[in-house]
Amino acid sequence: MTAVHEATTSLPQNTATQLFVAGQWRGASDGGTFTDVNPTTGRPLVDIASATALDVDAAVRAARAQLGGEWGSTPGATRGKLLNRVADLIERDGDLLARLEAHDVGKPVGQPTMLDIPNAAATFRHFAGWADKVQGATIPTAGYFGQPTHSYTVREPVGVIGAIIPWNTPLMIAAWKLAPALAAGNTLVVKPPEDAPLSILHLARLIEEAGVPAGVVNVVPGLGEITGDALVEHPDVDKISFTGSPRVGRLIAKKAADTFKRTTLELGGKSPQIILEDAELEAAINGTAMGLFFNQGQVCAAGTRVLVHRSLYSQVVDGLSAAASAQVLGDPFDPATTMGALVNAKQRDSVLGYIQAGRDGGARVAAGGGRPDRDGFFVEPTIFADAHNDMKIAQEEIFGPVGTVIPFDTPEEAITIANATDYGLAASIWTRDVSRAHLLAAQVRSGAVWVNGWAAIDPALPWGGMKTSGTGRELGWAGIEANTEEKVVTIVL
Ligand code: NAD
Repeated sequence: MTAVHEATTSLPQNTATQLFVAGQWRGASDGGTFTDVNPTTGRPLVDIASATALDVDAAVRAARAQLGGEWGSTPGATRGKLLNRVADLIERDGDLLARLEAHDVGKPVGQPTMLDIPNAAATFRHFAGWADKVQGATIPTAGYFGQPTHSYTVREPVGVIGAIIPWNTPLMIAAWKLAPALAAGNTLVVKPPEDAPLSILHLARLIEEAGVPAGVVNVVPGLGEITGDALVEHPDVDKISFTGSPRVGRLIAKKAADTFKRTTLELGGKSPQIILEDAELEAAINGTAMGLFFNQGQVCAAGTRVLVHRSLYSQVVDGLSAAASAQVLGDPFDPATTMGALVNAKQRDSVLGYIQAGRDGGARVAAGGGRPDRDGFFVEPTIFADAHNDMKIAQEEIFGPVGTVIPFDTPEEAITIANATDYGLAASIWTRDVSRAHLLAAQVRSGAVWVNGWAAIDPALPWGGMKTSGTGRELGWAGIEANTEEKVVTIVL
């Protein structure tokens, strides 16, 4: 029996805390658990079953069996119906899922209500639409030693997919991995993040309720180095779909090479937000502030390097500082709260360390810079001015509510600075000049460029990074490609 700690009085009753393997809810093979901590109080929230390598093996076997079983012969149209049903159930339980996300991640409950839940449902719907359209092509060829040929391609599922999820937006990222993989006929073993597993465990309940056959989706909460590693090392897993840090991504890429597992790696970012001198200033400041502070800045695409035309520099620093000071830090369930706590003590200390590094490096704290005197893992939203791109705070992913504002004189210089980073996930450009927007968008080395907006994501659009931000794409048709193997059949006529 898993223990629900005292501080969880408002955690929804009957919250799922166990493994979901082969259609069964159960504890770990060794009875082990780990403690999920509440970021807002710093106190234990609930104990979760911690999957062992043996449990991962059972989950992989169940997933493998379904490839040759009921799921393997389920037509795309039926898979599409099931995915639509999952989307319906996510919408039905939207409030509950948003509450779980707020308890677990510490984010204001309005944020998952506005983004994570509708995006997760929309992702299942989008891929419900692809499920009966995963098709190949007929391709004319020159023939075979003088004989005519007929060649065509088919897209087959990759097989058993290990999906490893980070804690910042767990439900949404789980949907990004589950929906395209299921649409294409794969089976999965999902490893939720140890800091925030609750919404994914509830999603497993919804997948079960929707009628997805037992064993198609298995969920194994546990620690990264144990449960995650067992999944990466398992010889019968065909692909690892990972979202998380570059450190773990690199480890996975190396290990996956041993067994030639396919990988999709969605990693970190240090995204630029470029404000040109003709930008609509108020919109640019508001949008940029959202790119810095949404989800306490714990967003892979956070626009943490704000590059500003020198003529607007002091106005933007003042505007972002005002936006930082206006944030209301507190309980995620208080409607007045605009910013919650960081996910754990380690993350808070790491962010505070970066703030100190910014000071030590000579940047000026224009807003924030401290830690509020209260329980939980809170850090003040912080703006650094008088900064340059070589500073540690401008080069390393902080994953907290910290922005660095850097001046430029020409658009060419802005692009040089934007690209002078190891990362390449996303970029924003704020301008009224549409030609210039296109020209600059073409020069930024990143997987996504948003003009006059930030994080304009959609399940129809491919998502992924360049350079250290990762390899491969998920979502859209790219998500189907990433979850299928293309086979060629040639008949010599
Ligand atoms: P993390 O790499 O520490 O953990 C991610 C997941 O990997 C967790 O489930 C963890 O348990 C697991 N893991 C840890 N060690 C492992 C190992 N040795 N083998 C297998 N699995 C292991 O990342 P995090 O702190 O949870 O998330 C933050 C990072 O994720 C940031 O770098 C952020 O930019 C990135 N992120 C990227 C995207 C994107 O789409 N590109 C989206 C969200 C987050």
